[in-house]
Amino acid sequence: MSDRGATAPTTAPTTAPTTASVGKNVTSKTFVVLDRDGVINEDSRDYVKSAAEWQPLPGSIEAIAELSKAGFGIAVATNQSGLARGLFDLAALDAMHEKFRVLVEQGGGVVDGIFFCPHGPDEGCRCRKPATGLLEQAEAEFGCDLRGCWFIGDSLRDLQAARGHGCRPVLVRTGNGAATEKVLKFNQLGGIDVFGDLCQAARALLESR
Ligand SMILES: [Mg+2]
Ligand SMILES: [Zn+2]
Repeated sequence: MSDRGATAPTTAPTTAPTTASVGKNVTSKTFVVLDRDGVINEDSRDYVKSAAEWQPLPGSIEAIAELSKAGFGIAVATNQSGLARGLFDLAALDAMHEKFRVLVEQGGGVVDGIFFCPHGPDEGCRCRKPATGLLEQAEAEFGCDLRGCWFIGDSLRDLQAARGHGCRPVLVRTGNGAATEKVLKFNQLGGIDVFGDLCQAARALLESR
């Protein structure tokens, strides 16, 4: 699910689009994929349930704006099982993401897409990370190829989704990241890049070009 079209009509357009334009852009942009909770904003054991509870980590907004201004596409891929658990609704999620988008735009950047899994862990969906459905959704929406792109996360399932899709898994120590770092080597994820936070990861990504 993507909130990119939150304001777009949910019904089919009255005029059939040509095959070439069926809901797809084609871009040559290089994307960076970001997990949300614990990478961009403070995570919470009690779930982040409202825009008020959605609080950016220090420097994360600026880092995203810098990446965007440098030409990277910004795609967020986030598990939001709080929806399935009834802890918040889509309107609340939209409000969180609107807050995020506005902050990035105030920094001069753009969030290209936010892809979220609304399901619970027992639903067997194809989008809840470590599954790769959110990455496939992003590719379908942007006509991009995420293989080789950086996927920055704080949890094992981010790194597993990244690896499963051929992205470059990158860990930050914010959120669950410090705990995740300790178990990397037990999960066939040794040798991946680890940074203190999104700022440091973004700086490394910009310098790597
Ligand atoms: Mg996270
Ligand atoms: Zn899902």
